[in-house]
Amino acid sequence: MREYDIITIGGGSGGIATMNRAAMYGAKAAVIEGNLLGGTCVNVGCVPKKIMWYGAQVTEAINKYSSDYGFDIPKAKMDYQVFRANREAYIERSRSSYTRTFQNNHIDVIEGYAKFVDSHTVEVNGELITAKHIVVAPGGRAVIPQIKGCELGKTSNDVFALEELPQSVIVLGAGYIAVELAGVLDSFGVKTDLCVRKHKPLRAFEDYITDTLVEIMEQDGPRLHTFKVPEELQKNSDGTVTVRFKDGTSLTAEEVIWAVGRTPNTDYLDLEKAGVAVTPKGHIIVDEYQNTNVPGIYAIGDVTEAKELTPVAIKAGRTLAERLFNGKVDAKMDYSLIPTVIFSHPAIGTVGLTEKEAIEKYGSQKVKCYTSGFTSMYTALADHRQVCRFKLVTMGEEELVVGLHGIGYGVDEMIQGFAVAMKMGATKADFDATVAIHPTGSEEFVTMR
Ligand code: FAD
Ligand code: NDP
Repeated sequence: MREYDIITIGGGSGGIATMNRAAMYGAKAAVIEGNLLGGTCVNVGCVPKKIMWYGAQVTEAINKYSSDYGFDIPKAKMDYQVFRANREAYIERSRSSYTRTFQNNHIDVIEGYAKFVDSHTVEVNGELITAKHIVVAPGGRAVIPQIKGCELGKTSNDVFALEELPQSVIVLGAGYIAVELAGVLDSFGVKTDLCVRKHKPLRAFEDYITDTLVEIMEQDGPRLHTFKVPEELQKNSDGTVTVRFKDGTSLTAEEVIWAVGRTPNTDYLDLEKAGVAVTPKGHIIVDEYQNTNVPGIYAIGDVTEAKELTPVAIKAGRTLAERLFNGKVDAKMDYSLIPTVIFSHPAIGTVGLTEKEAIEKYGSQKVKCYTSGFTSMYTALADHRQVCRFKLVTMGEEELVVGLHGIGYGVDEMIQGFAVAMKMGATKADFDATVAIHPTGSEEFVTMR
């Protein structure tokens, strides 16, 4: 039987980061991966999505903004095959770099799906593998609501696999993935309908920002339909799919995409053989040190109830490796003030509490908010004006900045540094004491009154 100090079930963002850090400290480590190294982020998540988002920016620069800047360019038509080939080649290069790092760190890669035999042993393709420490990092997959005809709808994985762009698409869902995919496809010229079951998308985010997104969608697309609860999907003789909604209305498109959340990949793991406890939704229960209820078994990333973000999985994994192999016995991940960007059109960036959350936590007397909005200079020259909006949520007399939110051109690259300041306990006065960078969007955060 192969024996290791540490193994990971899942070679995605979290598993890879944990094994590399553990191996750096001399641990004998192995990554068990049933599909493609890199997991969701590299193969069917952050990376292909962001490349498509950049592709959408190029399209918009040519088709929308170039004329404002005096260019006389005919409407651009994207050669999707070329774009796709370049995107996949980039992803392939990322995967190769993982393999090279594993070789340098003497980490074994074991191909296949693992399941538990007991609390120290897993089985992969009939082979038993044992380790002192087992990290469970199998990620998650898209949820498909079990309504009639649901299988006619695709998921984000299928969107990245498309060899050609469809003429039209219906995106069902209201979170990150629905908003991002609808935005990208719309920019690529696909007739896109985004259907949310409540009054707007991204309801959990700051209203000032998401109301702005809705305003921009009304102006620029994709077409937003609210209060649309899908009831049934039907295939038509011309190959299109019709979605019937509970309010009696329907929409038809060449493709339908489900983007209504994700579920953890715990069903294949035989967790009960190791005695690992899960929530009713199948997430592995961990304490603040990523320990499960079984000594020697840990879980990180999307399989836990943590925020489903690549840097969260990576940081949790590296922190765990520091604790297990570098003597940092108290090391634990700090899950507070996690910054995140939604690659919508335009991007939304957010750190910390919304105004509603801050009032709920501290009471309305203690919360003071500042807002600012203007037309992004990039879009301000002529016809295609697009608004930027920013909001600071502060708490207490000292006005500790507990929430920072923005939407607009460049916001995706704007907020990482502000997150550092907030982690350090920055107040509104600290923001005000910082000299602005002009002319930028980010200067709004240090000049709000
Ligand atoms: P994963 O990366 O999903 O890796 C899990 C791996 O485990 C997979 O490779 C899987 O094949 C393997 N596996 C599963 N079961 C087994 C088994 N039994 N045996 C062996 N292997 C197994 N996050 C961001 O921060 N920024 C973004 O821009 C972003 N965009 C996203 C876009 C999309 C469309 C999606 C779907 C997600 C996006 N995310 C983004 C989320 C991010 O991809 C995840 O949070 C991250 O990948 C989680 O890492 P993980 O290690 O927990 O799981
Ligand atoms: P999310 O959890 O973000 O959003 C899904 C939303 O879909 C729900 O909030 C809900 O909104 C709506 N919904 C749920 N069930 C149904 C249903 N049956 N019918 C119609 N609508 C429904 O999930 P995603 O799949 O978009 O993304 C998963 C996670 O991946 C994200 O939370 C994020 O952590 C990560 N991710 C991160 C990205 C980034 O960092 N840029 C990009 C993509 C994903 P409502 O209640 O309002 O209807």
